Amino acid sequence: MKRILILAFLFAECTGLFAEIRVGVARKVITPETPIWLSGYASRKEPSTEILQDIWAKAIVIEENQKSRIIIVTTDIIGLSHEVSEDVAKRVIEKYGIDRSQLLLSSSHTHSGPVIWPSLIDMFELSTSDIQAIVAYSRKLADAVIDVIDTAMNNLKPMQLFIGHGSVDFAKSRREFTEKGVVIGVNPDGPVDHDVPVLKVITPDGRLQAVLFGYACHNTTLSINQVNGDYAGFAQAEIEKSNPGVVAMFMAGCGSDQNPQPRGAVEMAIQHGKSLADAVQNVLTGEMHPVRPPIRTCFTTTDLDFLPFDPEKYMKEIMSNDQYRQRRAKLLLEAYDKGWDIDRLKYPVQAVRFNNDFTIVALSGEVVVDYSLSVKKIYPGENLFVAGYCTEVQCYIPTQRILKEGGYEPENSMIYYGLPGPFKENVESKVLNAISFVMKHTRAKR
Ligand SMILES: [Zn+2]
Repeated sequence: MKRILILAFLFAECTGLFAEIRVGVARKVITPETPIWLSGYASRKEPSTEILQDIWAKAIVIEENQKSRIIIVTTDIIGLSHEVSEDVAKRVIEKYGIDRSQLLLSSSHTHSGPVIWPSLIDMFELSTSDIQAIVAYSRKLADAVIDVIDTAMNNLKPMQLFIGHGSVDFAKSRREFTEKGVVIGVNPDGPVDHDVPVLKVITPDGRLQAVLFGYACHNTTLSINQVNGDYAGFAQAEIEKSNPGVVAMFMAGCGSDQNPQPRGAVEMAIQHGKSLADAVQNVLTGEMHPVRPPIRTCFTTTDLDFLPFDPEKYMKEIMSNDQYRQRRAKLLLEAYDKGWDIDRLKYPVQAVRFNNDFTIVALSGEVVVDYSLSVKKIYPGENLFVAGYCTEVQCYIPTQRILKEGGYEPENSMIYYGLPGPFKENVESKVLNAISFVMKHTRAKR
């Protein structure tokens, strides 16, 4: 009798905590095979022909059952365009019958990865063959993401999940206040979020299989014209080297107003990658907390409003000497003449909640660090990671504070994104309302 009770207890422990989760992981190289323009810096003048490091698409499927399931994809690229993101989502939804909220697509925002069609193309002088290469790569990227999801889906096995947090401090606020206004520099007093969330996947007998980790910092140590994943790529490679057979996946946090310091040399990117990998490794060997089902997911969109469109402003820009302003003005005036709706932007927001153990808030675009800090304040009892660069990267997402201060993030960056920024002041409340919606709809019954 006593023995039966012990067995029953063990079984309950097992089913109660772990047995119901199955996980599949996979990775695939997405390094371009032909010369291609790298995205992120207007200063580049030609396609890249050199590879410093392979870049990857990686997928993890975590499920309790078909309804309680999430597919998370990470990619070492600048960001998925709306077009590529929609294409992938449509194909995955059709194939696996999932809800849109059960697919989380993200990018590391490396500035040493290919241009993704048609994002930020106005940054560069592209020939017809350059455009063909970019379009072909973007198609291949979508296929690679589908492929890597398929492999992960075919690889589902019982696993256990744990969450922990570490920290590393190479991210610094880059919004420097000068007499000429806010410029991109270093602001040692600016807000930062040095949290390193670590989700660990192990087999029931304790072998590490996968690690999903994040950090809120622009992936911009390097501006060389060679393909690489920057600090996030080096961090993933370092973790995979120290743990053979393990898939390490990086998700960018809300670090669009943060830069790694120091920056500019390959050794620095490797060093930042190592610091981040060390922080992850410390968490892996320390005490971590179980992450349990159910997995609840929610995906919504909200409209973010631009200031009212002023055609005269763009008539002036089209006559200016600034080629980037000219290109944007041409694009916007054409859209305006066609009567297209250019006053607002559809903004996706998603939440993935594992019971009451861990929640990922997945925001699209280049989100400033204020959002991460304020969401954690709004939900003090939650174990949270607020990710940026998810779903698609359409532009920077400022807060009211940053809109008022001005500078690259709320204003000038819009030129390269071909958008009529800046946003109206209510951008922050719109984003926070959408976050509140997805948090509410994923809340587990206690
Ligand atoms: Zn950026």
